[in-house]
Amino acid sequence: MNLVLLGAPGAGKGTQAQKLVEEFGFAHISTGDLLRAAVKSGSPLGVEAKGYMDAGQLVPDELVINLVKERLGEKDAQEGFILDGFPRNTAQAVTLDSELADLGRSLDAALLVDVKDEVIVGRLSSRRTCRNCGYTAPAGVDVCPRCGGEMYQRDDDKPETIQHRLDTYHTQTEPLVQYYKGHSILKAVDGDRPADVVYADVKASLGL
Ligand code: AMP
Repeated sequence: MNLVLLGAPGAGKGTQAQKLVEEFGFAHISTGDLLRAAVKSGSPLGVEAKGYMDAGQLVPDELVINLVKERLGEKDAQEGFILDGFPRNTAQAVTLDSELADLGRSLDAALLVDVKDEVIVGRLSSRRTCRNCGYTAPAGVDVCPRCGGEMYQRDDDKPETIQHRLDTYHTQTEPLVQYYKGHSILKAVDGDRPADVVYADVKASLGL
């Protein structure tokens, strides 16, 4: 299955992707994780991306598109992938479609994890992320339950940046809901419920 996950930051895309990966073994391609790894490594791409990320803005398309192209070429992505955080705007979606077409592949579904802004603000401001593996949990969890790494608050999960990220989501990413509806591959689940309940719906709507 080749899947795109749509939804605001903090909607639970990463959590649902992780569950699908554990159960079905698809490759999880999170552009946020790839970019954070680039920032951590101090690579030229990371240095360029950091300012945009800290400000809650989108990183320029060409940087992200190249990262995704490379990742889609890796062996584990040939059997099926979950794109989490990509595409983030129409230009990225159009490029993705044409890249996949060149490879003789296509998307099977775009799944919207739908959560209201008020809920997102509460979730993101109390979200902590593992420095090592990217696992997320609410504030109060200091050691990653998955790998033992240190949990920290991402700079872009601080209140001053959250509203900006939500605005970016509504103006740039939300139009993709219509885009994928137009391609007849849009599915949607209500993400404002416990993760396991959402997951049951995710599988049902994907026919898994
Ligand atoms: P995320 O972990 O998906 O919330 O991404 C964190 C940050 O990385 C975003 O706020 C953007 O600055 C950047 N980013 C992630 N994915 C993309 C993308 N597809 N296009 C542009 N910027 C992105």
